[in-house]
Amino acid sequence: MNHKRDYYEILGVDRNATEQELKSAYRRLAMQHHPDRNPDRKDEATEKFKEITEAYSVLADPQKRAAYDRFGHAGVSGGGGPDFSSTIFTDFEDIFGDFFGDIFGRGRGSRTTARRGADLRYDLEISFEEAAKGLETKIKIPRWETCSACGGKGAKRGSEPATCPTCRGRGQLRHQQGFFTVTRTCPQCQGMGQVIREACPECQGDGRVRTERILGIKIPAGVDDGTRLRVSGEGEAGEHGGPAGDLYVVLRVREHRYFERRGSDLYCTIPISIAQAALGAEIKVPTLDGTERLRIPEGTQPGAVFRLRGLGVPRVDDHGHGDLYVRVQVVIPTRLSREQRRLIESLGSTLRVDNSPVVRRTADTVKDNFG
Ligand SMILES: [Zn+2]
Ligand SMILES: [Zn+2]
Repeated sequence: MNHKRDYYEILGVDRNATEQELKSAYRRLAMQHHPDRNPDRKDEATEKFKEITEAYSVLADPQKRAAYDRFGHAGVSGGGGPDFSSTIFTDFEDIFGDFFGDIFGRGRGSRTTARRGADLRYDLEISFEEAAKGLETKIKIPRWETCSACGGKGAKRGSEPATCPTCRGRGQLRHQQGFFTVTRTCPQCQGMGQVIREACPECQGDGRVRTERILGIKIPAGVDDGTRLRVSGEGEAGEHGGPAGDLYVVLRVREHRYFERRGSDLYCTIPISIAQAALGAEIKVPTLDGTERLRIPEGTQPGAVFRLRGLGVPRVDDHGHGDLYVRVQVVIPTRLSREQRRLIESLGSTLRVDNSPVVRRTADTVKDNFG
C-alpha cells in the first residue's frame, strides 16, 4: 500500500514545476495512457491513467501540493482518490470527451439529449415587381419531418417502446473501477433508456421521415436582392423530441427592363426631343403601378434629373416609400427630312452659343450620383 511513487516523478516534472508545466505534463501523459487509445493494453493503461490523474489532482491544488511537499503521501492520503469535483480538470474535457466526463461522473445528462433539427436554406428567385410589391407563394422543401405514424417514437403503432433491459432505462451503465466510478452510454439503447421492440414501418424506427413539404410563404413588399427571410420552425425536425430548425429563404431578384433600384429608390432614363427640352412638355413616365405625368420645364438640359416623391419601392422596416428619379436624355435627331433641316437651319441662324469652355457646376449632387 505504501510503495506509492512520487507524484512529481509520475508526472515527470521537477519539484519547482509551475502550474502550467504540470498541466501540460498531465495533458501529454493522459493522452498517451488514455484507456480508449490503448485497447490492446487497456488494464495497464487504466492503471497508469489513474496514477497520473491522482498525481495531478494533488499537485494542481496548491493546498494539497504544499501538504504533499511537507509530509509526502501521508500529507494527502485521505484514503480516497482524486477529487473529481475539482475544477482543475475542466480544461481537459476537450481531449477526453465523453470518457472523461464519465469518469468524473459529471453526468452529461443520463440520456441522449434532444437535438435541434438543422436549419435549411432555400434560394428563391423573384421578379423585380414581386420584390417591390411582395407576394405570397409556395415553395417545395425536401426535409426530415417527425414520422406521423409513430409520433417520432420509432415504435410500430400499438407497440410502445420498452424500458431498456441492459440499463433499466437509465441510459447509461456504471461500474466501479478502483476509485473511479466509470459511467458509459448504454450500448443497447444508445442512451435513450428505451428500446424499440417492433420498428415503425414508416420510418424504420428512426422517428423521422424524408418528405417534400410544400410551404406557403409570404414575402413582404420592399425586399431586395440577397434579403434573407427566416421562417421559424420550418427547418428539419429535431431528434429525440428536440425542436425543429429554421428555414431561411434567400431571395434573388431579377433585373428590371428599365428600372434600376438602389435601396428603396428607383431610377430610370426617359428620352425627350430637343423641342420638348427647349419648350418644356408634359411627358409620361413609367412607375411600378403604371404611368405618371411629369412636367418638364422649358429649357431642360440633357441629363437633368427629376424626383417623383413616394413612387419608389416600399421600405420593409418602416411604412414609407422611396422616390423615383427620372433622368432625361435629350435625343438629337440624326436623320432629318428636308423640311426639318430647313427649320433647324433657320432656327440655328437665330441661336447664338458662346463656344468657350464651360466650367461644370456640381451643386446638384443627385444628378452627379445618378449620372
Ligand atoms: Zn415512424
Ligand atoms: Zn440501455
